Amino acid sequence: MRVGIGYDIHRLVKKIPMVLGGVSISHTKGPVAHSDGDVLLHAICDAVLGALGRGDIGMMFPDTDPSFKGTDSGEFLEKVTEIMDKDGFVVANLDCTVISEDIKVTSYREQITKNISGILDVSEKVINVKGKTAEGLGETGKGDAIEAHAVVLLIKKDKS
Ligand SMILES: [Zn+2]
Repeated sequence: MRVGIGYDIHRLVKKIPMVLGGVSISHTKGPVAHSDGDVLLHAICDAVLGALGRGDIGMMFPDTDPSFKGTDSGEFLEKVTEIMDKDGFVVANLDCTVISEDIKVTSYREQITKNISGILDVSEKVINVKGKTAEGLGETGKGDAIEAHAVVLLIKKDKS
């Protein structure tokens, strides 16, 4: 068994599309990023890479690489899933928390869970996505940033 933790934060500005967990979200602001800035998928990538002992998303997909500009972060998680598969691991369960002042994560929970389960190739039952606010505190509390935490447990495929 391997456990991994992931965290990410992105600044939010007007006139940028908002994507969370691979789902397009109707919002006045979106993340400033080299890729599509999907804070949740980035945290999940880091959690899985961490569990595998394979560094982090920045090492794997450097933001200095122009080929990753505007990339759908689902592609990052797909590549991370391939690595996990090659290493012989599968997700036992994944728990995530998104912190956003004004995006109602619970409204998108089902779609996000379905999307993540599709990419990771596991049942939706082992994926949990929670949303909460920052109680008005800091940049996230002002609605100028969005954060995500992810914890994943991986198990060896042959020992499941
Ligand atoms: Zn990110």
